[in-house]
Amino acid sequence: MHWKCSVCNYIWEGEAPPEKCPKCSHPKEKYQALTEEQWGLVERSRLTNDLHVKLLNILPALAEIARQGIEDDLDPPCVKIFQQIREQASFLEQSIKAELEGHMKKGKWG
Ligand SMILES: [Zn+2]
Repeated sequence: MHWKCSVCNYIWEGEAPPEKCPKCSHPKEKYQALTEEQWGLVERSRLTNDLHVKLLNILPALAEIARQGIEDDLDPPCVKIFQQIREQASFLEQSIKAELEGHMKKGKWG
């Protein structure tokens, strides 16, 4: 079974909730059992959120490559591509952050 701390959202796996929360130290009464459906949503959300985080980790590398390409300035078509990549990397980074904030507010965060 899975249990969730209603104070700090820590998820505990076991037959019963912990005597006190390992994260926030509140007593077990603050823990609520998750239904199979709720636990399924947590697992799904964790997968999607992990993918978003992986993208967040590589987008700065794309932006850095694009910055070097712009600085290299071989010819206008190349610079245009690099500028687009830099803009898209920034747009995607901000979009992912906004989406993750939305997930957290809806409880779609493990
Ligand atoms: Zn807690």
